[in-house]
Amino acid sequence: MNTLTKRVDMKESIMNYTLDELKNIVKPSFRAKQIYGWTYHKYVESFSDMANLPKTLIEELDDKFILNPLKIVKKELSNDGTIKYLLQLQDEKTIEAVWLKMKEEQLNSNGEVSQEAKYTICVSTQVGCKVGCSFCLTAKGGFTRDLTPSEIVAQVLTLKKDNKHKHNRKINIVYMGMGEPLDNLDNLSKAIKIFTEKDGLAIGAKRQTVSTSGLSNKIDQLGSMDLGVHIAISLHAVDDDLRTELIPMNKAHNINSIIEAVKRFPIDTRKRVMFEYLVIKGKNDDLNSAKKLIKLLTGIKAKVNLIYFNPYPGTDYERPLKEDMTRFSDFLIKHGLLCTIRDSKGIDISAACGQLKEKNKEEIAS
Ligand code: SAH
Ligand code: SF4
Repeated sequence: MNTLTKRVDMKESIMNYTLDELKNIVKPSFRAKQIYGWTYHKYVESFSDMANLPKTLIEELDDKFILNPLKIVKKELSNDGTIKYLLQLQDEKTIEAVWLKMKEEQLNSNGEVSQEAKYTICVSTQVGCKVGCSFCLTAKGGFTRDLTPSEIVAQVLTLKKDNKHKHNRKINIVYMGMGEPLDNLDNLSKAIKIFTEKDGLAIGAKRQTVSTSGLSNKIDQLGSMDLGVHIAISLHAVDDDLRTELIPMNKAHNINSIIEAVKRFPIDTRKRVMFEYLVIKGKNDDLNSAKKLIKLLTGIKAKVNLIYFNPYPGTDYERPLKEDMTRFSDFLIKHGLLCTIRDSKGIDISAACGQLKEKNKEEIAS
């Protein structure tokens, strides 16, 4: 690649901007709303497709910006409707995002659609991850870099467009792809704001869930931003020794500090904080752990999501037995905790939790 194309390739994406910011960039400012409409409602691919913009503005935009910073390089389809996307960034790094079908479409007796299917997009926030959890495949590749707001926003836009999902159809976002969202809080919070723009994708903060491995100071920071998003805490263990084995940064952010931060977090009164509990065979699947979990969550409007550990080549951890999972879940429910067992989607294409990772060139070609 020569230097000129490289420079052109690295132009900034227009999706880095909220509508107000864009109004300060393009003049007259009403053009910003038109650009938003073409980008987020019509899903156009280039500025020259923005038919009602004057030629001079199109040239100006072309000169300074690009539209979508992502390219789909691979798509894997699961038999449960899950689609895993491998996306390439401008600097040729790759990330994964997952399209999840949460509910099948419902037909009435005349065969007409009475309720449309419901989808969730699992979004990445970093290339790799610094946290280094011992059970997570993303962690194995180390950390490369944070994603920009536009690279976060464009994952949703790209997947909606590819699935012909109209801009005004509802969608949920879970920040549960590659990376630790709260370790990239500035760019994450900007992306959350861009998603909620009424003239853009208009995805309400309530439809967005930030999953964190528990950076307690950043939970406070996210709370003080009052964005209205939900949080999910990757708890996984009820005593600090095991949690530190699983999530090394538990040394700096121990269980107690996380629980205290959650208690301070502004939560919609009708909602609950989700605690994710990754169940690993012989490690944390016993009833003693379940008992401690109940005690730990006393006084918090919580719901627990039990996740089967998804094994991958090279890991010593094992998937728990179904009966142990059910016993654990029944025990929590019997003691008044809301509890669900995560129905792992896309297992056949390694799109399930913790199975996302950066790909090298050989893997992309396979
Ligand atoms: N970094 C954030 C969000 C991304 S990970 C976090 O840790 O919360 C999303 C979820 O996948 C987390 O709950 C994580 O613990 C879980 N996960 C990671 N590796 C997994 C594996 N091998 N099997 C099942 N779940 C896993
Ligand atoms: Fe990072 Fe989350 Fe994986 Fe831990 S589980 S290494 S925090 S992506």
